[in-house]
Amino acid sequence: MDILALDREHVWHPYAAPGTLVHQVVGAKGVRLTLADGRELIDGMSSWWAAIHGYNHPRLNQALRSQLDSMAHVMFGGLTHEPAVRLAQRLAAMTGLEKVFLADSGSVSVEVAIKMAMQATGRSRLMTVRGGYHGDTFGAMAVCDPVNGMHHLFAGALPQHVFAGLPPAEHDEAYLDELDRLVTPDLAAVIVEPIVQGAGGMRFYHPGVLRRLRELTAARGVLLIADEIATGFGRTGELFGCDHAGIRPDIMCLGKALTGGYMTLAATLCTAEVASRIGVLMHGPTYMGNPLATAVANASLDLLEERPWREEVRQIGNVLREGLAGRDSRVMGAIGVIEMPEPVDVAKVQRIAMECGVWLRPFGRLIYTMPPYGISRQDLSAVVEAMVRASA
Ligand code: PMP
Repeated sequence: MDILALDREHVWHPYAAPGTLVHQVVGAKGVRLTLADGRELIDGMSSWWAAIHGYNHPRLNQALRSQLDSMAHVMFGGLTHEPAVRLAQRLAAMTGLEKVFLADSGSVSVEVAIKMAMQATGRSRLMTVRGGYHGDTFGAMAVCDPVNGMHHLFAGALPQHVFAGLPPAEHDEAYLDELDRLVTPDLAAVIVEPIVQGAGGMRFYHPGVLRRLRELTAARGVLLIADEIATGFGRTGELFGCDHAGIRPDIMCLGKALTGGYMTLAATLCTAEVASRIGVLMHGPTYMGNPLATAVANASLDLLEERPWREEVRQIGNVLREGLAGRDSRVMGAIGVIEMPEPVDVAKVQRIAMECGVWLRPFGRLIYTMPPYGISRQDLSAVVEAMVRASA
């Protein structure tokens, strides 16, 4: 069977027309992907922030296998089970947010966060900052960057929200004054990705922005939603992006690395106070709290607790900082970015990276990496080399 020919015939890939160039993967272990032609690639992407422990991890595999032997799934309406309850309790303890809604993907958890804010306040307008990305569903799209997001394609179908400018990398009093003007009491919530803006441009910003947003929202009765889907679980050097600013949001979204990259699962958490204002939350996906996904998420949290992730992330950051110096680059935690003057030719960058034995997926003007935490120094050097060569 010619999988690639059938793929071209029938399959849509993310943000692509059918027929776009793809590579067939037949296996993945540790930090390596194996292609159908036998080539091995060091994964510089952690499958979009998710596979923090690497692929085919014996502990994660075991957690899934043993859960499979008791049950793969049961509905969550009126029923409950240990893996979901344990996960909720652990996430609550990690974040200080007591009430947990388990959702099926990051975008859905953002929809749920918006619903929570609307139900808790009786208001519907949101404020956010430019350069953000929160997902591809309609509620989430409406708070993505209005220029580099998809607003132009779906204009007319998106609710109109309030946008502050790009959050600055350094302390900027004029920007904080802008926030002061825009955070008004008629808003339901402010939603931001804490510290690192991911798919909207891989930008890092000053923690003072988060601190000011926390003060302003608290003072004006507006909720603060932290979308930690990409930043959560250590990637930025702290457990959560909010920790860089020492703040606690009212509502938080988690996803991606929650299951260590094994399967889709997300969570929306809120304070007991917000939950008490909501009561019945009007959302309930079919696969809510899926036992396999929650079991593997518990195992991934076990691994995170056991591994020296802070040190690993710091070391990755050091290697990236040193290796990417001399380019227009930036590094935070275990995230390294080269910003090119012009939009990159994705296929060309990928070809050069693959010649170096590395998997990268650039977008816009950005060639970037967020490798699994356990990547060896040697493999990381190959990733750096690939980025540098692709940007030459
Ligand atoms: N929020 C952020 C910050 C994200 O990075 C993403 C995924 N790129 C999402 C939301 C959407 O998550 P999902 O793709 O799981 O729907």
